[in-house]
Amino acid sequence: MTITRTPVIAGNWKMYKTVEEAKEFLRALPLSTLPDDVEVVICAPYLCLPSLAEQAQGSKVGIGAQNVHWETEGAYTGEISIPMLKAVGVQYVIIGHSERRAYFGETDETVNKKVKAAVKTGLIPIICVGETLEERENEQTKAVVERQVRAAIDGLSSDQVKKAIIAYEPVWAIGTGKASTAEDAGEVISFIRKTVAAGYDWQIANEVRIQYGGSVKPENIASFLEQTDIDGALVGGASLKPDSFMALVLAA
Ligand code: PGA
Repeated sequence: MTITRTPVIAGNWKMYKTVEEAKEFLRALPLSTLPDDVEVVICAPYLCLPSLAEQAQGSKVGIGAQNVHWETEGAYTGEISIPMLKAVGVQYVIIGHSERRAYFGETDETVNKKVKAAVKTGLIPIICVGETLEERENEQTKAVVERQVRAAIDGLSSDQVKKAIIAYEPVWAIGTGKASTAEDAGEVISFIRKTVAAGYDWQIANEVRIQYGGSVKPENIASFLEQTDIDGALVGGASLKPDSFMALVLAA
């Protein structure tokens, strides 16, 4: 059986760009001539989402948030819910990014709650996992990633897990300019697929898209995409300029 997984190139803008700057970015993309064989996603700050989603309507660009709360509404000052995102046309959400785990108290448990809430409504989660430098040096990479993946997808049905996207982002590679080697990333990502297969089966695991993230740029993306198990990239810094974002999309 041949497996065809559409690669996903997702930009993670983090806390960059005003509403106007975001609009300008999208205006600079050739929205009507984007390639068909790649899924293109921009994960922007909350404030930019309504106008981006409107601008991207009818195009191949999907819009994502960078976090969400698992409850649909309630007394949660400062939070944003899934229905609020869906109401403005958001289709994806990054969950469990290492910056949220490190600075904002995100845990395996909250990641799981958010993932479950997202898939229930058809919002596609981009689930981030990855080891710190210390964990890598202590040879705990696989143990950490396995724990994070299992916890994140715990309780998901086969249909739900198939639609999720997992992003392997070694923490030491994020924003440092020191990307993982493609071979190392490929090996961990194959291991992640095996972890999904252990919880479900190989047919399901072979449908899940697993991205690499961490200092991906136009110059190195091809090496990652050559790895059989790597299905695209989650990109921070290099996604902020239309030219370099387009170079990444065209490489996929
Ligand atoms: P980077 O960030 O591409 O700037 O390393 C990746 C990410 O945090 O998703």
